Amino acid sequence: MDLPLLVTTRIDPREVDKEAHNIDATYRYPLAFYEATLLHKNPKDVEHLMDLVASRLGSPLQYENLGFTHDTSNISGGPIVSSYKTLKTMMDKIDAQLKLAMLIRAVDDADVACKVLERHFLPDLLGNLRAFSKQTIRCPLCNTVYRRAPLKGVCPKCGGKLTLTVHKKSVEKYLEISKELSERYDLPYYLKQRITLIEKSIQSLFTNDKVKIKKLSDFF
Ligand SMILES: [Zn+2]
Repeated sequence: MDLPLLVTTRIDPREVDKEAHNIDATYRYPLAFYEATLLHKNPKDVEHLMDLVASRLGSPLQYENLGFTHDTSNISGGPIVSSYKTLKTMMDKIDAQLKLAMLIRAVDDADVACKVLERHFLPDLLGNLRAFSKQTIRCPLCNTVYRRAPLKGVCPKCGGKLTLTVHKKSVEKYLEISKELSERYDLPYYLKQRITLIEKSIQSLFTNDKVKIKKLSDFF
C-alpha cells in the first residue's frame, strides 16, 4: 500500500504536504465564524479567524499550543488496523459507511449511496465488463500469455490447459450490491436505469440466448 519513500528524522512543517497546513488550531471557534456560515461567506474570507497552521509556519507556534477538542493519553493511540480491513465483505463496508452517514445529521445518506454507486461500483462494473471482452488468455503451466485464444484450445507451447485472466465473477462482483443499494435508498431513476442496462449487458455477455434449456414439461 503506502510504502515510505524516505524517512525524515526532523520534521519541518514547511516541508509537509500543504493540505496539513489547513488544520485550524484554535481551541474554540469564534462567534464571527458561525455568523459567517449563515451568510455563506467564502471560506477564504474567514480564514484569518481560524488560526490555521499555515499562518504559524516559521514561528515557534508551529510546534506548540495547537488547540484540540478531545484529549488523549497517548498521541500515537489510534486505530492500528482500519475498519476497511477488519470488515470482510464489501456489503459490510458499505453498511458501516451508510450507518455513519445516517448518524451524522449534516450527511444525506441517500446521497452517499448515490456517490458510492456513481464513482465506484458503476465504473468498476463497466470497466470489468470491457476488460472481460478484451482479456488475454493465460497458460498456468508455463505462464505464457496469449493476446487471443489459441485455436488449438490448449497451450501451443506446452499443451497445458488455458485459463482466463478476467473471470465472470469479477465482472458481476458489484452488481447485486448496486441493485440492493438503489432499491434501499430509492435512488434516482436514471441511476437505476444505468444499473439495469449494465445488468443486461452482463447477461448478454454470459448467456447465449440461442440456447434455451427446456424441460419435457414445457411441451405439454
Ligand atoms: Zn503452456
